[in-house]
Parts: sequence; C-alpha cells; structure tokens
Amino acid sequence: MKKILVTGGAGYIGSHTVVELVQAGYEPVIIDNFSNTEERSLQGIAAILGREVTCHRIDCTDTAALRRFFEQETGIAGVIHFAAYKAVGESVEEPLKYYHNNVGSLVALLQVMQEFNVNKLVFSSSCTVYGIPAELPVTEQTPVQKANSPYGNTKKICEEILSDLATSGSDMYTTALRYFNPIGAHPSAEIGELPLGVPNNLVPFITQTAAGIREQLTIFGNDYDTPDGTCIRDYVHVVDLAKAHVVAIERLLSGKAENIEFFNVGTGTGNTVLEAVQAFERATGEKLNYKIGPRRSGDVPKIYADVTKATEELGFKTTSTLEEAMKSAWDWQMHLQKTEE
Ligand code: UDP
Repeated sequence: MKKILVTGGAGYIGSHTVVELVQAGYEPVIIDNFSNTEERSLQGIAAILGREVTCHRIDCTDTAALRRFFEQETGIAGVIHFAAYKAVGESVEEPLKYYHNNVGSLVALLQVMQEFNVNKLVFSSSCTVYGIPAELPVTEQTPVQKANSPYGNTKKICEEILSDLATSGSDMYTTALRYFNPIGAHPSAEIGELPLGVPNNLVPFITQTAAGIREQLTIFGNDYDTPDGTCIRDYVHVVDLAKAHVVAIERLLSGKAENIEFFNVGTGTGNTVLEAVQAFERATGEKLNYKIGPRRSGDVPKIYADVTKATEELGFKTTSTLEEAMKSAWDWQMHLQKTEE
C-alpha cells in the first residue's frame, strides 16, 4: 500500500481526503498541529474506517520536526499539503501569521521532501487566485490577479513558489488544485467542518442558525449584478473535492503529470446565496431565519468554475447535488450537537 503524507489531515478537507485515500487503497499518514481542528476528527475517521490512521502532532513550519518525521516514516510516496490558515478576515488583521504559516510551511515541506527524495505533491490552492474574474466560468487560463487579502496572497505566492521550483529543473512534480467553495460533510456524519467560534463561511453559519446557535443569517448584499442580486459561488461537496485529491495523487504517482499542473475543482455551476439558502431549506425541511444586510468588503460578486480540464485529465466528476451537500452539512451539525450534549 502506498504511503501518502497528508498535512492538515485532521482538518476539514484533509479528514475527508484521508478517508477517501484509505478507501482507494492508500495508507495515509497525518501530520497536524491541531491549531484549527480537534482530536474528534481522528475519532470520526476511525469510526468510518473501523480503524485508526496514524497521526503525528507536528507543525509544518518546523523543519527539524518534519525531518524527524521523514526519518521515522520511511517510504512516503507522495504528499498532500492541506496545513494552512484559511480565515480571510483574520489574515487582514494578522498578515505575518498567515505568511509565516502558509508560505513557511510549504517552503519547509518542499525542502525536507527534497532531502528525502519525495517528489510528488498535491497542493491546496483556491479560486481566490482569480480575484474578480473578467469572464465566467473561469478556466485554468483565466489570468491570476492581485489577491485581495493576505490569505489569498499566500495561495498565489505558494503557486508561484511551485512554478519557480518546476522551472528550476527540480524533479518535484506538483499538482495545485484550485478549490471553489467546499461544503457539506461525510454521509456518515462522523466528520465535517469544525469552525472555531463564529463561522465566517456561509454553510456553517446556515447550519448553526437553523440549529439555534446563531440567531439569524445575514446575507451580505442583494444589489449585485446577478439574477437575485446575491453573490454567486460554485459550491462543491467536500467528499467530491476529497476524491479529486485521490485522482490527483494517482496521476502524479503514475508518472503522467507534468512538473506543475493546475486544476479547478468545483461543480461548474454557480448558485446565488439565496439559492443556497433555498436548497438548504428544501433539503432539510428547516426554515431559515435570515435578513439582507450590506455587502461584505472584499467579496467577489460572482465566480464559478469551468471543470473541463479536471474532468478530462484527472477523470474528476462531481456526484452530489447542492441539496445533498446541504443535507449532509445539516446531518453533521445534528451529530455535533448530539455528541456535545
Ligand atoms: N455569505 C453571506 N453571509 C454569511 C457568510 C457568507 O451572505 O454569513 C455569502 C458571502 O457574501 C459569499 C457567499 O456567502 O457570497 C460565500 O461566502 P463564504 O465566506 O462561505 O465563501 P467565499 O466568500 O470565500 O467564497
């Protein structure tokens, strides 16, 4: 069984990817510093798989600890690098924290991978690199623009680091997956998103509002140039996104990948915030308390993916509808509440 290092494997997308890796016949090994997740995600993974997955408590910016890891865990065939901070607002307030963690961890990881002759990497990127796109849907050729937050800039810089490494003649093979909006949870409801404090993202805010933890959802603006005036996003089920990592690492290990490749991972469909709310209500039978508020600064009015490249070259396909994703997010919220009682 090929051993795959999953950094940030106890996090939201990481934990779902660990499950999919095992189910595809890989042996994932997690490293995580648990700065933005909880031990319970490991228990959730174990409950789904019927066995535990090895996890090392390591901070990815710690080069010496990474070295010790590679010395101990021999035979790593490839790496999927999720470990990063992701709160846009916080990154504006604490930019150095974001540059240190998100850029620093990638550089440390690449250095140590080179030392140990591990040369296959899947990197978590984001559609944030496209900024406010001039044309929709966005393809991988859509120009990358100046980021509008330090968080976004870390993703852009990390992509540039990987491109520079590729053109340097290094034998590192990297696939950067540009995620659109991951939502939902594993159908077992054993793992899902664990937002710390008040959620910034739409779907955890919706589920917490429906569960009575938050009083009301505020929809940020209804005066955009979209059919109902609310922003458009491409919401992709986290399990579909997790599977994209499995096919990406498979392609890298098969030797078919170029030195550096970029793929959009979304559904190819844009939905407005109001459509997302209605999908939640239809899928769960819950009535959501919401109001329209002012625009949130920095929001992209509309973005959704052209996923032709991932479909044709990775064999990526989405299997879940927006309703199914919303239902799974709700089931996870209910599970969380039951286990916290
Ligand atoms: N959104 C909203 N209210 C919230 C959180 C988000 O109306 O409490 C909207 C936000 O303006 C955006 C969409 O939901 O149009 C997705 O926001 P999210 O923060 O989840 O993702 P991102 O903005 O990074 O795409």
